[in-house]
Amino acid sequence: MVYLDNAATTTMSEAALGALMEVSANIYGNPSSAYGFGRQAKRLLEESRKIIADCIGAEPEEIFFTSCGTESDNWVMTKASDKVEKIITSAVEHHAILHPAENQRLLGKNVQLLSVDNNCLVSIPELSAALDQKTALVSIMLQNNEVGSIQDITEIARQVHESNPESLVHTDAVQAVGHIKIDVKEMGIDLLSASAHKFNGPKGIGFLYISKRCSIAPYIVGGGQEKGMRSGTENVAGIYSMAKALEDNVANMESIHNHISELDSMLRTLLTEQKIEFCINGDSSSRAAGILNISIPGIDGEGLLNILDMHDICISIGSACNSKSQDRSHVLLAMGLDEIEIDSSVRISIGRYNTEEDIRTLVKWIASFYKIAKLAET
Ligand code: PLP
Repeated sequence: MVYLDNAATTTMSEAALGALMEVSANIYGNPSSAYGFGRQAKRLLEESRKIIADCIGAEPEEIFFTSCGTESDNWVMTKASDKVEKIITSAVEHHAILHPAENQRLLGKNVQLLSVDNNCLVSIPELSAALDQKTALVSIMLQNNEVGSIQDITEIARQVHESNPESLVHTDAVQAVGHIKIDVKEMGIDLLSASAHKFNGPKGIGFLYISKRCSIAPYIVGGGQEKGMRSGTENVAGIYSMAKALEDNVANMESIHNHISELDSMLRTLLTEQKIEFCINGDSSSRAAGILNISIPGIDGEGLLNILDMHDICISIGSACNSKSQDRSHVLLAMGLDEIEIDSSVRISIGRYNTEEDIRTLVKWIASFYKIAKLAET
């Protein structure tokens, strides 16, 4: 199999898998239990919190464990906004933000969606114009999951806090954590969502960074875990595995980045050498290597995906969550692509374990599909 859909999910790293198996097998005590075996699990939980905090420039007490990125996003959109009069977000957010935002709108909140340019970037002047004293939450994703564009969160946070120091800045950093350097304090981020399975950790575990300066209501109430903010017996094995995955990715960030950049560039070179006409959706200067969304004129993206699937090659169209739906990508639509460009687009996302051979195999099959499609056109 050639797996080139790393924005959908990633292969677990050895560090993450080892930690998951070790804790599942041997340290399965309940961290709330009042005996040594429970305290051992509790220690692992706090060690994980510290590892994760160190990786993003936060304090350990600012890290709250959740079940996934979707939960972290929903927590922010529903609970940071209890007293919120105005929420600002963007048209290209993941549905884990857009759907709760729509629910908030139905509840009577003023929800404003910022537009993006053809590089998938929000406009700072449009943001500035939208900010006012009633704005309690601004949620803009750090890296887009469909085209890879990276927003200037530091500048966004600066604008928001300058306009109203009380306004909170949230970033859905699910695609960015463990891939690009993040320092929440330097960047001025108040709330940040992350998900382990996007950075070579296990599925079903994530976290929400909540800066000490935020007051946000609890998400799940019950036994009082996570300082009463998110009750439920902690998934200690998943949490420790997530911490080890993040630690490993951050420790090797530069070499992983260089490897992915080389494969990304090789992919574009080989497509060009095969005389495949394509255009990159999203700006190369603001796009992190690894997520390459391309439109290939004259090609049906879904047809290409199906042919590649027959050869055991995994890529996607739009986001993984969308690929069964008839809806066209809301991200590409917001970037101004027309229906023909969208229907001819595919997303190839490269991860740390991909090889040059993977890229050659992918291009070989794209080229053969392309030739047949071009012949059929004549
Ligand atoms: N936000 C972004 C930007 C994503 O790409 C995803 C998943 O694709 C999510 C949120 C949801 O994360 P999870 O799958 O952990 O619920």
